Amino acid sequence: MRDLLITGIGRLVTNDPQRDGLLGIVADAAVAARDGRIVWAGPEAQLLRELRDLPEVGADGRAVIPGFVDSHTHLVFGGDRVDEFGRRMRGETYQQIMEAGGGIASTVAATRDTPTSRLASDAAGRARRMLGTGTTTVEIKSGYGLDVATELRMLEAARAVGDVTPIEVVTTFLGAHVVPPEYGEDRAGYVDLVVEEMIPAVTGLVEFCDVFCDAGAFTVDEARTILEAAAAAGLGLRLHAEQLAHTGGAALGAELGAAAIDHLDEATDADVAAIAQAGSVAVLLPSVSLLLGSPPPPARRLWDAGVPVAIATDCNPGTSYVENMQLIVALATLTAGLTPEESLWAATRGGAMALRRPDHGWIGPGSVADLVMLEAESHLEIPYRPGTDLVRLVVKAGEVVVL
Ligand SMILES: [Zn+2]
Repeated sequence: MRDLLITGIGRLVTNDPQRDGLLGIVADAAVAARDGRIVWAGPEAQLLRELRDLPEVGADGRAVIPGFVDSHTHLVFGGDRVDEFGRRMRGETYQQIMEAGGGIASTVAATRDTPTSRLASDAAGRARRMLGTGTTTVEIKSGYGLDVATELRMLEAARAVGDVTPIEVVTTFLGAHVVPPEYGEDRAGYVDLVVEEMIPAVTGLVEFCDVFCDAGAFTVDEARTILEAAAAAGLGLRLHAEQLAHTGGAALGAELGAAAIDHLDEATDADVAAIAQAGSVAVLLPSVSLLLGSPPPPARRLWDAGVPVAIATDCNPGTSYVENMQLIVALATLTAGLTPEESLWAATRGGAMALRRPDHGWIGPGSVADLVMLEAESHLEIPYRPGTDLVRLVVKAGEVVVL
């Protein structure tokens, strides 16, 4: 059953650009879906008689928002890094932990050692918690395999998450996460492997190719080689850029017309102007900054320059084991300088734009019926009550999936 009518909505956040204000809020609203898509949304007093026959859920004055679109995660991984977290919180540096075999390398080793079925079932557990907290679409990257077979196994596990849970999965190939230990100083050899073997192997399985272009990861020249090969194979482009140091990744992403450029903590004003000009989405990850003890991402500067901003969890075992987008909305508001309205838009419509899903992240005729009913009358309660799960009901493509 993918037909649904929700009535009695106190405030409906539509994100519809044809309505007033950033969030296009409709008071005393109703919304109707057929075959998984919205067919009508507006003031309930104007609800068409023929839609009254749809299966009905009453909101009793509560707020309804679009489902969250989490546009940057590393949801598939083996093991965890809780011991490393404890060591960091007790004062060891990330550098010391890396030298002792921790960091991304430890997750790569654990992922290679974990069967695909276990990778998939663990990731599905995380996805179910995401769905329960209001996320209806999630991007999942590979990048802890760093060999052809394990990268493919990670993507198989990511696709399985979409098959065994109602959450919608968008997959991204991140073979260029770091140079794996067995390549030592042979960086060019690994870039060749990514371009000549991995990209052809994943083409048809993923929508996007991502590169971690930063200090300690890939250089701008290496990233260019990989992303140009990915674009030639028909993949959309994304980058992790300007997180740890300013290396020029954002300018490269803008030049190549990347769908999204993520992190951007160290972005300069020239980078911001280039991103605005290119129309790429800036995906900001406020929980990473919080957990690493670094300043929040420059959300205000990007927003004011006219860059479409998305916010996401970056769910990963090292720097942000966060599954709940409600917390990200709160952090973007409380630490990164966005208004509550901008944060909510960035977590829904912004995320959909970053994943090039024009029919997601808003509520109006033709959009996918991904809806969240809050246990609150106002959407402002999300940043107002950080840490409280305010989700009462989740609808994915017209179906009630979480009650
Ligand atoms: Zn990431």
